[in-house]
Amino acid sequence: MEVRNCRGCGRLFNYLQGQQMCPACMADLEDKFQSVKEFLRENPKAPLNVIAEKNDVSVKQIKQWVREERLTFTEESQITLECEACGGKVLTGRFCDKCRTSLQNEFSSAYKRPTATLTPKKNTNGKDKMRFLDN
Ligand SMILES: [Zn+2]
Ligand SMILES: [Zn+2]
Repeated sequence: MEVRNCRGCGRLFNYLQGQQMCPACMADLEDKFQSVKEFLRENPKAPLNVIAEKNDVSVKQIKQWVREERLTFTEESQITLECEACGGKVLTGRFCDKCRTSLQNEFSSAYKRPTATLTPKKNTNGKDKMRFLDN
């Protein structure tokens, strides 16, 4: 069995597939997710830092949930994330509607195009490369 450090509390836990945190932290995060969701429903115009502060979560975590499409901001919300392709306004997910559509088109039509700048990369965080450079 594989043991890893929990991303949340740093304690060792029995690593299960794809799990970054110990069961206690996972449950804790799920609680927070629910309260953020609830908070957003009651305060759709609350800025990101207020949501984070009131619910004791990091702004980064909230953005993460949006990227995972678990949280969606409404049109009336002041909060926007940037489209990873064009930098435009995104309410949920990683790409704006426009880019999402063109990405889908790109996939279905031209498989390889020299100017395919919107092709999503498998590894977008570039962590492996950075670790390599650090060494
Ligand atoms: Zn933990
Ligand atoms: Zn876009």
